[in-house]
Amino acid sequence: MPRDDNFLKEKNARHLWHPMTHPADHLRNPPTIVTGGHGVRITDIDGHETVDGVGGLWNVNLGYSCQPIKDAITAQLDQLPYYSIFRGTTNDCVIELTEALCDFFKPDGMARVFYTSGGSDSIETAMRLSRQYHKIRGEGGRTKFLSLKKGYHGTHFGAASVNGNANFRTMYEPLLPGCHHIPAPYTYRNPFHESDPAKLAQLCLQALEDEIAFQGASTIAAFVMEPILGAGGVIPPHSSFMPGVEALCRRNGILLIADEVITAFGRTGAWSGSRLWGVQPDFLCTAKAITNGYFPFGAVMIHERVTDTFESDETGKAAIAHGYTYSGHPVGAAAALACLAETQRLNIRENAAARGTELHQGALALMDKHQIIGDVRGGHGLMVALELVADRATKSAPDKSIASTVQAKAYQAGAMVRVSGPNIILSPPLILTADDVQTILSALDTGFNAL
Ligand code: PMP
Repeated sequence: MPRDDNFLKEKNARHLWHPMTHPADHLRNPPTIVTGGHGVRITDIDGHETVDGVGGLWNVNLGYSCQPIKDAITAQLDQLPYYSIFRGTTNDCVIELTEALCDFFKPDGMARVFYTSGGSDSIETAMRLSRQYHKIRGEGGRTKFLSLKKGYHGTHFGAASVNGNANFRTMYEPLLPGCHHIPAPYTYRNPFHESDPAKLAQLCLQALEDEIAFQGASTIAAFVMEPILGAGGVIPPHSSFMPGVEALCRRNGILLIADEVITAFGRTGAWSGSRLWGVQPDFLCTAKAITNGYFPFGAVMIHERVTDTFESDETGKAAIAHGYTYSGHPVGAAAALACLAETQRLNIRENAAARGTELHQGALALMDKHQIIGDVRGGHGLMVALELVADRATKSAPDKSIASTVQAKAYQAGAMVRVSGPNIILSPPLILTADDVQTILSALDTGFNAL
């Protein structure tokens, strides 16, 4: 059927409520209609082509032309488009994928997989299985969750409850009881006014220790954290932080849930964010890049410490009363299997590390030039944020429209970037070239020059 561009423009956002958007905003300012993608570039309905500095939504690590994944999806649709893996049935593709994932995450100590349809599902799964783990072990009082302020974990009630940003919480309260937050190791702004990352890490660990003592260790099921905070503004902790969290969790019988929805599969320059810091969490939650964004899918990797408890249970308490219709979807599994093979064949984490350094250095150079940039964060692969301020001395927030103006100008100049609060966030595909990095940086420069 021939596409009528005028129809699409006319109907854009008239009847569609977009996630994370005020419905009225889109009626006034209709969103960009993206109609094509190739390599690391996207094209809009007017034929304007840009480098995708957002990488879809942190997920299109291998770009828009990954033929092996497309072929795998098509072949699986022909062979078996759907069957459930609830009790009693499975599919060939998900068996193969499970072996591949267990092998891939073996250095993280992961022994089993539970499949989901996305990131929020993965967090929900890890939270539920954490409570169940303690119940199986006769510690049913361990029901609470601790997490970091500024952390982002998705939008289910479980995920929103451990979320550390009021924007995602306030309008949906009351959330899950028993969820408490400690300060993030965010060097640029923190309640301790500490600018040394190592000292700040120790202060935040002390806050965690205090909170554990205050709540009572025997009431806490798990601690949830992103190895590098993403949507909260790319906040890489000091290298001592996550190992310190792991030690406190172990000492207090608290499970550690690593939210690796962004960080798994190479984005940080390591194959997992936990591995970057030398940590083995109890649950390693993935989604997004697991299928390169081509199919909604997720996987919770489970450490052998936890699997032993479930598998040796003889009371029946370990029966998993949790799962999604699309857990282990054969088409998603086929996509993930091809995606993992391609991710490893390209050894993509190396390019993420090299291009990430260039992007980070380039963003720091932009900060030298533009006073409005108060802080630049990155240094671990292809996740970089530029935090905008009205005044560097007071770090006061700029007018809300400023970041959007920079984004719009950068888009015209050839790069799609993302605005999140006062931050401009860069999370491009990991197959980016050095030239593409320069395109993003020069488009941003144009955006800042236009202010
Ligand atoms: N955790 C993290 C770290 C994320 O960045 C996201 C999504 N941006 C989620 C969880 C939620 O994933 P989803 O949107 O697929 O539910």
